[in-house]
Amino acid sequence: MKHFIIFGPPGAGKGTQAKLMVDKYNLRHVSTGDLLRGEIAKQTELGKKAKELIEAGNLVPDEMVVAMIKSEIANHPDVTGFIFDGFPRTTAQAEILDDMLTKLGKKVDSVISIIVDDDLVKERIKHRAMLENRRDDMQDEVITNRIATYHKKTEPIIGYYKKQNKYHEIDGAGTIEDIFKEVCALIDNL
Ligand code: ADP
Repeated sequence: MKHFIIFGPPGAGKGTQAKLMVDKYNLRHVSTGDLLRGEIAKQTELGKKAKELIEAGNLVPDEMVVAMIKSEIANHPDVTGFIFDGFPRTTAQAEILDDMLTKLGKKVDSVISIIVDDDLVKERIKHRAMLENRRDDMQDEVITNRIATYHKKTEPIIGYYKKQNKYHEIDGAGTIEDIFKEVCALIDNL
């Protein structure tokens, strides 16, 4: 059983690569963004709380996403592995994930980081806004806040996984196919 984290700024293409990984390596994809949008669509209590935060470009509280991740793991004991997408997004979440997996006798095997600069991130998010109807992709101030939040709260996680020798970078400026080739080379060499 292997556990991967696909890491990178908003709009880096994490979800796209995660889906390709699922098909090739038979992993279960867990996207906290997708789970949160599901809660919003179902208008659950959690969804109502998350909606405003997401639409302002802020993170939702750690305990909310941790609860969702816990039930995903508990509900799928037989999978060959997980690919976590959009989680962890804070060092606290990374520590909690380690605790959770350790208790189950499991671990994070590798963190695959897609490197994309801020200008390309903005371009990609704007392009996605035309394809998907995501409110957090539509306004410049919200996109700017998401990028700032990434640098402030999410980027420090890099150091956390570097210390564990699990952190690997891939240039995210190429095509979907180019990036996936690098992702596969990395996984196949583990
Ligand atoms: P993107 O990769 O474009 O930022 P996501 O779909 O991964 O999009 O996330 C959308 C939003 O959901 C984030 O901007 C944030 O508000 C919220 N979110 C997703 N994952 C987390 C998380 N692990 N912790 C806190 N908030 C999260």
